[in-house]
Amino acid sequence: MALARGKEQLYCEVCGSPIPGRPYRALVDGVEMILCPSCYLKLTRSGRAILVKQRPAKTTQAPRRTRPVKKVSLELYDIVEDYYERIREARESKGWSLSVLAQKLRISESMLRKIESGKMKPSIDLAKRIEKILKIRILEPTELEEEFEAPPPGTLTLGDVVVVRRDED
Ligand SMILES: [Zn+2]
Repeated sequence: MALARGKEQLYCEVCGSPIPGRPYRALVDGVEMILCPSCYLKLTRSGRAILVKQRPAKTTQAPRRTRPVKKVSLELYDIVEDYYERIREARESKGWSLSVLAQKLRISESMLRKIESGKMKPSIDLAKRIEKILKIRILEPTELEEEFEAPPPGTLTLGDVVVVRRDED
């Protein structure tokens, strides 16, 4: 048998027939085999064979996506612990009765009584009105600021982990 260009005739390792032209190298059930075109097509279509590709020069590090610096600013308010004392003291120093202040706040007197006795925390909205009317501070702004930026290579910040997880969602 004449060998084309002096090359050894290759036979399909699945069906045993001589392979015309270029053989296909494929992983069949995890084993690398030389296949004829028809076996290659048959097996890849059934999902049993995976073409063995020339592996591209593998990068040792996955390319890092450059992330824009995200600044998350979240303003939260907390009502101070002694809000009720501050309210009562401020009200009394103005000489206002409970009903006067309740009217100014557009809330019921019993509600104000509960607030002043510390049994009920005002809502943030109401607390803002109280601050304005009594000229006191019962809200503590809590500013949470988180910055996500590319950390130096080799380090992984908590912020980075959070971002990575979000990307995988
Ligand atoms: Zn074959």
